Amino acid sequence: MKKPRTKRRPPDISTLPADACPSCGTQMRERKARLSFPVNGEKVVVPDALHLRCPKCGEIVLRLDDMRHLREGALTLYRKQYGLLSSDEIRSIRERLDLTQAALSKLLHLGGNTLSRWEAGRNVQTAAMDILLRLIRDVPGSLDYLREHAA
Ligand SMILES: [Zn+2]
Repeated sequence: MKKPRTKRRPPDISTLPADACPSCGTQMRERKARLSFPVNGEKVVVPDALHLRCPKCGEIVLRLDDMRHLREGALTLYRKQYGLLSSDEIRSIRERLDLTQAALSKLLHLGGNTLSRWEAGRNVQTAAMDILLRLIRDVPGSLDYLREHAA
C-alpha cells in the first residue's frame, strides 16, 4: 500500500533566498561569535567566527568562506598555543634533509596526505610530532636512527 503524502513538508530550499534558514526559512543574520573547530581531536574556540544565524530557531550556517576562515583561525590558535613549527618551517626541514614528502612520511609513520597538508597549512601537526620534527632538524644522526628503526 502506498503511503499517503504528508502535507507538512520541510521548506523547499531551492526556492528560498540564499540567506534563508534551511530549517525554518527565516532570513538569517550575519554575525561574529565564538565557534569551535576540532584540531587533532581538540576543540579550538575561535572567538570571532563569521557565520549566519537564524534569529527564530538558532540554526547556524557557515558559508564556504566562513568555514575556511574558521578552520584557518583554529589552526593558527592551535599552532600558537603549542608553539608549533609553521608550515614553511616544516617544508624547509624536509628540503634541507633532501627528502621527498613520501620519504619523510614513511620515516615518521605518517599516513596519506598528512605531511602535504601540514606543509600547505591545511592542517597542523600534534605537539608530539612537532618535537620529533625539531629532533631530526637539530640532532645530528637522528635521521639515520629513524632510517634504521622506522622502516
Ligand atoms: Zn530557522
